[in-house]
Amino acid sequence: MSPKPRSGLGVFAGYHSAQVAATVRLNTNESPFPPPPYLLRRWSEAVQDLSLNRYPDRQATPLREAIARFHQVEPDTVFVANGSNEVIQSILLAYGGSDGKAASFEPTYAMYETISRVTATPYLAIERGPDLRIDAERLEADLAAAGASLVFVCSPNNPTGVAEEMEVFSSLASDPERLVVVDEAYGQFSPQSMVPEVAAHSNLVVVRTFSKVWSLAGMRIGYAIAPPEVAEVLWKVALPYHVDSSKQLLALYSLDYVSEMEERVAQLVLERERMAEQLALLPLDQWPSAANFILFRPRHADAGRLWAQLVERGILVRDWSKWPRLENCLRVTVGTEWENRAFLGALEELLA
Ligand code: PMP
Repeated sequence: MSPKPRSGLGVFAGYHSAQVAATVRLNTNESPFPPPPYLLRRWSEAVQDLSLNRYPDRQATPLREAIARFHQVEPDTVFVANGSNEVIQSILLAYGGSDGKAASFEPTYAMYETISRVTATPYLAIERGPDLRIDAERLEADLAAAGASLVFVCSPNNPTGVAEEMEVFSSLASDPERLVVVDEAYGQFSPQSMVPEVAAHSNLVVVRTFSKVWSLAGMRIGYAIAPPEVAEVLWKVALPYHVDSSKQLLALYSLDYVSEMEERVAQLVLERERMAEQLALLPLDQWPSAANFILFRPRHADAGRLWAQLVERGILVRDWSKWPRLENCLRVTVGTEWENRAFLGALEELLA
């Protein structure tokens, strides 16, 4: 006998992504590039002078100001946390719970449902259309049926890579009582962003992360751009001093190297396009990606077996083949040119 967790957590599997040893790791959509050495040098020297006996700046003021300058928004619209997952958790703590009802468009990033469960928020999955886009024509009817007070839209969507049409967002945000959360974890790889729209809405939040193009997945830094009233509520539910001094400093310094970051994005977008061209020559179907990964479905091979055969060759991709609507699908993260070549070579051989 052991103590029972809160009801609703009983059948709960938690987050799962296979972490197996592999030389070519293309399974979790991280940046293939480490942070620039000059950034790490500057940061590690500055860390020596931090007063670590003192609590950090609770509201991460210089970092919020730098993020605000980067996005050309006001600092009081910025909320910072330990990765965008914690931002999503804070949103659900503040606007979910038994009073709220969350919804998202599946298949999508599984943590919207998972964190809804953890925060005791009822969650409803709305099905995407046949092409795995949000079905704009059915949108109003679906939302009315869901009665959602909180809607998560991942764009570009993980794991499909598809970016939604701008009209979808305006439609979603048309009810001022509904909080619309646009997760732009992969936003920098896409030509469009909803950040400029936040100022015009009282109910629109955009979530971003330092985990992907900023090469800082290991540091856990994410943020939201939100109406000031919403940002204020998010700060209320955050634990005191939740963002430590050293990570505030690293994120702050990394924002001094925007052009380097943009170069990396351009390089990965180029690699993604090259990879899509190569994949198009193989017996598989793929979805058009605006992110740093590509979802594909082999036409004749079993995806689960293919995943294992790639692992045998030291290549790790993400197996989505058991997910509803993603039957027989795998997702590959865009890596370095060398990693992508290794993946494409192995795939071509296995599908031959
Ligand atoms: N949103 C999406 C869509 C993601 O794919 C991820 C990472 N896989 C996250 C949020 C979480 O990112 P992090 O917590 O590292 O910022």
